Amino acid sequence: MKRTKIVDIFAPEHIGSEVCVKGWVRTRRGNKNVQFVALNDGSTVRNLQVVFDLTKFSDEQLKPVTTGSSICVIGKLVESMGKGQTCEVQADSLEIYGTADPNEYPLQKKGHTLEFLREKAHLRPRTATFGAILRIRSALAFAIHKFFQEKGFFYLHTPLITGSDCEGAGAMFQVTTLPLDKLPKTDDGSIDYSKDFFGKPTALTVSGQLEGELGATALGAIYTFGPTFRAENSNTPRHLAEFWMIEPEMAFYDITDNMDLAEEFVKYCIGYALDNCRDDINFLMEHFDAKLVERLEFVLHNDFVRLPYTEGIEILKASGKKFEFPVEWGVDLQSEHERFLVEEHFKRPVILTDYPKEIKAFYMKQNDDGRTVRAMDVLFPMIGEIIGGSEREADYDKLLARIEELNIPMKDMWWYLDTRRFGTVPHSGFGLGFERLVLFVTGMTNIRDVIPFPRTPNNAEF
Ligand code: ATP
Ligand code: MN
Repeated sequence: MKRTKIVDIFAPEHIGSEVCVKGWVRTRRGNKNVQFVALNDGSTVRNLQVVFDLTKFSDEQLKPVTTGSSICVIGKLVESMGKGQTCEVQADSLEIYGTADPNEYPLQKKGHTLEFLREKAHLRPRTATFGAILRIRSALAFAIHKFFQEKGFFYLHTPLITGSDCEGAGAMFQVTTLPLDKLPKTDDGSIDYSKDFFGKPTALTVSGQLEGELGATALGAIYTFGPTFRAENSNTPRHLAEFWMIEPEMAFYDITDNMDLAEEFVKYCIGYALDNCRDDINFLMEHFDAKLVERLEFVLHNDFVRLPYTEGIEILKASGKKFEFPVEWGVDLQSEHERFLVEEHFKRPVILTDYPKEIKAFYMKQNDDGRTVRAMDVLFPMIGEIIGGSEREADYDKLLARIEELNIPMKDMWWYLDTRRFGTVPHSGFGLGFERLVLFVTGMTNIRDVIPFPRTPNNAEF
């Protein structure tokens, strides 16, 4: 008999018919006349109640039906009297696929802490919480493609292994096939990278942007969506060593076009989740964050504040707040500053623009004041920076001067500079950290809980 997914069972037309359901047992309870099993197959946060009448099933038959075991049940779907569910299956037949020894199965009890579940990352997707998070994550990934595809952007695959060590966004993980215990050396004693796989030093990418610009200045508008790697030893609730990033890059966009796109984009993603992941969001709201939907709708229905960095600094200085990191024009904003502006001062998302050039990357468009660049960071409640972007410097001479000023090796940059040598155009782009978006939409507070297998310092077990 054909299996019906539990997510589809709740449609009214199935009531009264015979169904076949398969899944993992969440709980079993009952008495000596009847046993109730909460069955989940991952298709929805909702469990299906399966009722075993003990005149039809023996104790012996039901013994292996414990939390974590996997079963197949055929039975009649009927309206349920019990509270909290609309229908239930009255079991006629039972097949056990796999048992889960109650003395060994780590998720035996309910209500484990998120910290405990991080240690069980291989099994935590089987919990209601992580099922909800992972389904929302999947829906958001789809929404991102849908948004850009419907706007005529092309999905560009930029390399994960890069030969340029000047992407500038963070510390890199080296990629090598050289034997680390017997490194080949040149005459002057340095490592002989001509013997390495690519004949030169290579690393995992920290951003696809530079290659994205090559795409944008050919296809007009592209986006990347892939993993990026940063060997930053920052053990914060908002940083991973391996995270996914979406990087649109658009020819003929100035910074205002860029801000408009960023705002429309995140609002679209939030709206998509509210429209398509309501059961999962409601579950997370009930169990973790009662204000979740309110916060999502608030962001959805309010314009983002747009403010130059310099004015932001003035607001922070005038606030009279004691920050851990003191504020002065020229400092890079810490998340405490970003969150003050967003959560306390403006009480809505803020796009901060025109940062001091010293704290931003070499490729950002230089303003006429000689001190600031056309950067734009989107700051969110709870998260701080969710997007970092800019209008790019399109002028060859200005870009070259900045590269030389910062001593970035030209041998790595010639291909990037070619975009400015041949048919340069005004263009812009930004990077959205996917996990920061998932954090915001799920209301989770630690980035390790919104990616299936988090990579952080000293943590690559699973
Ligand atoms: P932060 O100051 O928070 O470290 P950043 O300035 O290094 O961020 P960018 O280089 O502008 O960030 O990267 C673009 C986006 O990627 C950020 O806005 C953020 O959403 C995300 N991001 C950056 N670093 C990480 C990380 N280590 N883990 C997860 N997401 C990240
Ligand atoms: Mn960073």
